[in-house]
Amino acid sequence: MIFDELGLDPRILEAVKSSGYTEPTPIQAQAIPAVISGRDVTGIAQTGTGKTAAFVLPMLHKLSQGRAKARMPRTLILEPTRELAAQVAENFEKYGANQKLNMALLIGGVSFGDQDRKINAGVDVLIATPGRLMDHFDRGKLLLTGVQMLVIDEADRMLDMGFIPDIERICGMLPKTRQTLLFSATMPPEITKLAKQFQKDPERIEVTRPAQTAETITQHVTKSPSDKDEVKRAVLRAIINSCDVKNGIVFCNRKREVDIVAKSLNKHGFDAAPIHGDLPQSYRTQTLDRFRNGELTLLVASDVAARGLDIPDVGHVFCYGPPPNSDDYVHRIGRTGRAGRKGESFTIVSPRDQKLWDSVIKRIGQDVENFWNDDIAAEVENASSRPERRPRKNDDLKQKRGRGRTRDESRSREETQRDEPHKEEPRQEEQAGSEEQTPQKSRSAKSQPRSRGDSDNRKPRRSSKRDDDQGMAFVGMGEHVPAFLQREVEIPDLSKDD
Ligand code: AMP
Repeated sequence: MIFDELGLDPRILEAVKSSGYTEPTPIQAQAIPAVISGRDVTGIAQTGTGKTAAFVLPMLHKLSQGRAKARMPRTLILEPTRELAAQVAENFEKYGANQKLNMALLIGGVSFGDQDRKINAGVDVLIATPGRLMDHFDRGKLLLTGVQMLVIDEADRMLDMGFIPDIERICGMLPKTRQTLLFSATMPPEITKLAKQFQKDPERIEVTRPAQTAETITQHVTKSPSDKDEVKRAVLRAIINSCDVKNGIVFCNRKREVDIVAKSLNKHGFDAAPIHGDLPQSYRTQTLDRFRNGELTLLVASDVAARGLDIPDVGHVFCYGPPPNSDDYVHRIGRTGRAGRKGESFTIVSPRDQKLWDSVIKRIGQDVENFWNDDIAAEVENASSRPERRPRKNDDLKQKRGRGRTRDESRSREETQRDEPHKEEPRQEEQAGSEEQTPQKSRSAKSQPRSRGDSDNRKPRRSSKRDDDQGMAFVGMGEHVPAFLQREVEIPDLSKDD
């Protein structure tokens, strides 16, 4: 099949051609005609199948007639994370380049003012995370009664993040006559219920997910003889040194781990930066852009932050421990070896990770090659002989405090399901600094030593509060934040600080 056969507006076809695509992917071939004909669609598909264009293209087609009114968006796309929302917005710009349509992106970490102005001018497409959308609605700045089409993307991830009550509320505010498209990688009972509740006789389109990992990826496992973090970090460095790394993603299971591993890699001269939900939006966007443009070698990420991100051509994936959910292993290593290219993955498994690793092996149904060499052995020996960092007096107390839930739970869950609530942690310099600074041989993944004030190494303080898509939290105020502190402010661009 070719795109011309799908009945899309010629301007859209032209934009698709300019993107270099000639044939629709299976989900596009099935979903586009169904959406154009006005049917609801339940798409069971994961990222990488072309599902974004499967809803963006027919939406653009339908929007080619009619005009937007002030404060009344014509279509609405809900995304679980800011990055995914921004990625869908990029798709709109790409495929809608030949049409004059207005789009607004409502995500946290960005001032309300600009978003208000866009909504006031009238938008054809509103792309939003549920929390920020509700905030606009509650401020009386938005009317949802003109929405003709709703897309709920990554529905299972929305469920994981506790957004379903928000989605139910949003659906209740939309006209009943709208068209509803729902996309999800899996269909747990809660999502099936949501589909039944808010869709009318949907066409079910299922694109098979790869049960196994791509053959273009060479997988390795390195067994760390110790659970000590110092040893695991030393193993990670030795593995990276053993590879010719052009670019790679280091996956960690917790936000705290992301910070510490990134900091430690920087300290040892690697060009690495963290990405997770506690970092300000401007920093996350900037870091991703640098990684995409080849200006950053190693992206240290949590699963949620990296999920769905379209980063082509990643050479290496490093798992700093197997993920708690074995499906995430497939997602993680699927970041490399894309489009027929070769990729390599390395997973560090310490004794306490063994059970998780066993379920990964069961999930992928294949053996993974052991990776070990003299450099790893030497690093392990070196790190094992160092005294362990003694816990500080307040560590325990801080951990307990960090476990508190926020007032507005449904807005506070970006990444909290997999990641522990972010704690007021011991300073990372002390964590990473407990490692001895060993001299390193020259390596491709290593950068020139960074200055102290280098923007990559800087991380604004955040508390465990508001671990969501709404920007910075208030530190040290407990639950009682005075109103004047909650005023809307622009978040400074960290890149301009130095
Ligand atoms: P998605 O599943 O929407 O995240 O898309 C994954 C990747 O496939 C993105 O890089 C898209 O640009 C790309 N893509 C989307 N549609 C097509 C197509 N018809 N042919 C080739 N690549 C595509």
